[in-house]
Amino acid sequence: MAWRGGCQCGRARYEGMGALPPVYACHCTECRRQSASAFALSMPALRANVRFSGELSAYSRPTDSGTRTDCFFCPHCGTRIYHQSERSPDRVTIKAGTLDEAGTVTAAAHLWVSRKQPWIALDPAVPAFDTQPSDLSSWRNEFGGCGT
Ligand SMILES: [Zn+2]
Ligand SMILES: [Zn+2]
Repeated sequence: MAWRGGCQCGRARYEGMGALPPVYACHCTECRRQSASAFALSMPALRANVRFSGELSAYSRPTDSGTRTDCFFCPHCGTRIYHQSERSPDRVTIKAGTLDEAGTVTAAAHLWVSRKQPWIALDPAVPAFDTQPSDLSSWRNEFGGCGT
């Protein structure tokens, strides 16, 4: 089984192997700015399971925990494709809005609900965190097993 996605102009593409990993929504301020929208959709995947093609530029930013995250985007249209944390080099976090089948994706968890836009109503059956799990990288690695 394969899943595919890419940037707005189509020059940067990716293809993932295995089952589509679960997606979480993050409503924090950084994610809101990064996505230029109300929240970000993130899909942690094993790096070895994803093949990227096309040119990508990187923007590196510090995180609250003192490490760095490299954020990769298409230099032609600016679409953010994935993030790579210094802390988990074997994982990538795909920006799930870039999936070709993004319309079928639903959030399996919500982070930073304390910062969410007030008009967004959440499904009470979906786990929601006021902020984020204290060990975010462990939580992310366990979250659905990253499609393995
Ligand atoms: Zn592009
Ligand atoms: Zn966030």
